[in-house]
Amino acid sequence: MKIIDAHNHPDWHGYDFQKIVENMEKYHIDQSWLMSWESPLKECCEGTAGLVCGSLFGKRDVAIPFERCVAYAERAPEKFILGFCPDPRDPQAANYLKAAHDIYGAKVCGECKFRTTYDSPDCTRLFRKAGELGMPVTLHFDYDWQTTIEKPWGEWWGGDMQNLEHLLQLCPDTNFLGHAPAFWINISKDDLWKQGPYPPEKAKVVEGGAVPTLLRKYPNLYCDISAGSGCRALRRDPEFAKQFILEFQDRILYARDYFDNIHQEFLNSLELPTEVLEKLYHKNAEKLIHDS
Ligand SMILES: [Zn+2]
Repeated sequence: MKIIDAHNHPDWHGYDFQKIVENMEKYHIDQSWLMSWESPLKECCEGTAGLVCGSLFGKRDVAIPFERCVAYAERAPEKFILGFCPDPRDPQAANYLKAAHDIYGAKVCGECKFRTTYDSPDCTRLFRKAGELGMPVTLHFDYDWQTTIEKPWGEWWGGDMQNLEHLLQLCPDTNFLGHAPAFWINISKDDLWKQGPYPPEKAKVVEGGAVPTLLRKYPNLYCDISAGSGCRALRRDPEFAKQFILEFQDRILYARDYFDNIHQEFLNSLELPTEVLEKLYHKNAEKLIHDS
């Protein structure tokens, strides 16, 4: 079966081009969406600077510059789909997105991981442009879990599920992928989000969470199951996960945001029909970038 990892980054967590290619081969991954993360480093927590390539190239102060995605794709064009999301707070952002699409063939607007609420006028303008260009938008959500007066560098990204719902209403012609802790904690309608980014390993899902509710209401919402957040949300209650995947089988994408194999291991343990796995592993990703 063809496998597309719909969320990864260049020069990330100690992996360079060669290591990423070897890692993809190890886990039978044919293609990866390779995305920038153009947040200024001063808005990232202190540990981030050691995990990313930002500040190593030129003077641009961004965590993962798009030029590194381009460098990988030039070396192995068949293996990488380019993703770029400019800082939406820059008034020229929509024009930068168009340039990345027209000049370099970027097909995804991502990763969007910025210290702003994603339904702001500036974000909305950028995401409407993404919709016009046929580019799906990968959104990272994190609540303000880490910040204290003593540790002011804590990260928050995107806002909450009300900001997401408002955005889905404002941009009905753009496809969005939800991702990260503050998205996935809302697979369940409980108070665990107040405690931190990750639910306990075996916390049963309570029906009525914002994620399934929004998926039922807005056909332009998709899910990216990458990282610990996506995997844990499914693994915490495998019975619920199976129902969730069957119901939203046309809008869930296999993705990693890292270099392990936890998502394949879990998905393959659920005894899902082959045609559902085909959608998760590649067809939904191919469908989303079909027109971009
Ligand atoms: Zn992310």
